[in-house]
Amino acid sequence: MDFELTTEQLAMQKMSRDYVEKEVVPVAAEYDEKEEMPVELVRKMVAEGFSSISIPEEYGGAGMDEITVCLVTEELGRGCAGIATGVGANSLAGLPILLAGNEDQKKKYLTPLCEGKLASFCLTEPDAGSDVSAISTTAIKDGSEYVINGTKCFITNGTYADYYVVFAVIDPKRGARTLTPFVVEKEMAGIDASRKEKKMGIRSSNTAVVTFDEVRVPAENLLGKEGGGFRVAMETFDISRPMIASLAVGLARAAYEAAVVYARERVQFGKPIIQQQAIQFMLADMAMEIEAARSLVFRAAGMIGKGEKSLSAFSAMAKAYAGDMAMRVTVDALQVLGGYGFCREYPLEKYMRDAKIMQIYEGTNQIQRLVIANSIVSGRI
Ligand SMILES: Cc1cc2nc3c(=O)[nH]c(=O)nc-3n(C[C@H](O)[C@H](O)[C@H](O)COP(=O)(O)OP(=O)(O)OC[C@H]3O[C@@H](n4cnc5c(N)ncnc54)[C@H](O)[C@@H]3O)c2cc1C
Repeated sequence: MDFELTTEQLAMQKMSRDYVEKEVVPVAAEYDEKEEMPVELVRKMVAEGFSSISIPEEYGGAGMDEITVCLVTEELGRGCAGIATGVGANSLAGLPILLAGNEDQKKKYLTPLCEGKLASFCLTEPDAGSDVSAISTTAIKDGSEYVINGTKCFITNGTYADYYVVFAVIDPKRGARTLTPFVVEKEMAGIDASRKEKKMGIRSSNTAVVTFDEVRVPAENLLGKEGGGFRVAMETFDISRPMIASLAVGLARAAYEAAVVYARERVQFGKPIIQQQAIQFMLADMAMEIEAARSLVFRAAGMIGKGEKSLSAFSAMAKAYAGDMAMRVTVDALQVLGGYGFCREYPLEKYMRDAKIMQIYEGTNQIQRLVIANSIVSGRI
């Protein structure tokens, strides 16, 4: 395995690092404090290509590889995990279209997504979180349309989305076996996305309850084939989980870098605290775990699109390890700053609050372990 980045990958890494430093870092604390999504900034970042790096050029994306996606996402995560989540949600919503959409659907929906339109991936429901098979939103065929009814919760970008990729069952008697994804446009009557969640972390992302009440969707908005939804959702996660893992790596890196700077400057007992072995060992653990997580991210991202049967397991490993790592690293980094770490004058408490979601969304880290275990039991790894 070659760990050298290409010239193109290095250029994208630098471009995104500079961009984040200029556009994201200066507003991160403000939007966290206001518990508001910087909608215009996210739209701008989407239009500038941050959520369409691996979308093929013919649909308006950059057509780059998944390692580049992860390099850029790490930089976004370093700047603000909340804003990065808003941008990343667009990539997530685009994946079912890319994976299951026909040529017309890809042109119709992926191109606007590359140009600045926002989208939401709508899978989770009040009674169907980890258990996707419990989804009760229905899409019942009526002539040349499907009529969608149901409630989706915790939907990132939900309030501001132009498009919703909605997973619904088309035959309630047969349930999850008939799970099917649809593209729903925000203009279609019957959508309400006004209820926003108040959150512990990633407060600069929008998380909403989205209800669909007799929403009539043309049959041509069905992605793939009837009943193909479960597979599309799982294949989506195989691709999106390394991206979330890289976001967690970026967040952990931000916390670690702040801890190193502080430890060099803070003098106690007549010397900088970085000269205390207890602090050094914490920093050493942080550096080690960040590197390990990044390696796992690259390993999983490098498998995408190659038909590897162990991809699900490696994507889950990257997501679970990086998510747990970000939690550990942000807790320790805050500790390095002592009382100042606990105060809002420094970003450490934000990093720690933001880290918690890395163990929850895109499938909890318990579910990631189930995915890995299933791959072991079935002999795929
Ligand atoms: C900020 C935020 C943004 C989100 N964005 C989106 C989005 O854009 N689109 C979307 O569709 N969803 C989104 N989600 C939903 C997210 O993916 C779910 O919250 C997550 O999958 C867990 O579901 P749940 O919250 O219902 O927890 P539950 O499934 O109820 O789980 C509760 C606890 O039980 C554990 N558990 C459940 N089943 C098992 C099991 N079989 N074995 C072991 N442990 C188990 C879980 O790990 C967890 O600890 C978001 C959530 C949040 C909080």
